[in-house]
Amino acid sequence: MTYDSDNIFAKILRGEIPCDKVYEDEFSLAFHDINPQAPVHILVIPKGEYVSMADFTANAPSDLIAGFFRAVGQVAREGDLEDPGYRILANAGDDAHQEVPHLHVHIFGGKRLGPMLAA
Ligand code: 5GP
Repeated sequence: MTYDSDNIFAKILRGEIPCDKVYEDEFSLAFHDINPQAPVHILVIPKGEYVSMADFTANAPSDLIAGFFRAVGQVAREGDLEDPGYRILANAGDDAHQEVPHLHVHIFGGKRLGPMLAA
């Protein structure tokens, strides 16, 4: 899948539409999901044009990959999610119902979560 620079998260990164920001550094931006599926539902996105985890890990520079995953962990720590727990999820492609074609990791928490997979 080729990257569409008009996707909604690209627009958020460019500041063209607002977001409810949780965390930002040179590599990543984290913000609250507009349609939360749990009391805590945060999205973390890398600052780069990558559609999916497979695209990102194959094509992004190492400092961006490291910085992105550090940001995911930092958001979990700063949100006091380590205890009692949280879930990380990244959808890719049609079978996973990926809606936005810019890599994003969902962080869910704030309640006892349901089964891992609703198939
Ligand atoms: P996906 O299905 O691609 O893994 O998840 C996309 C997520 O992006 C959904 O949970 C959806 O609620 C969220 N989302 C879509 N548009 C916006 C938006 O404009 N702002 C924010 N904050 N979240 C969005």
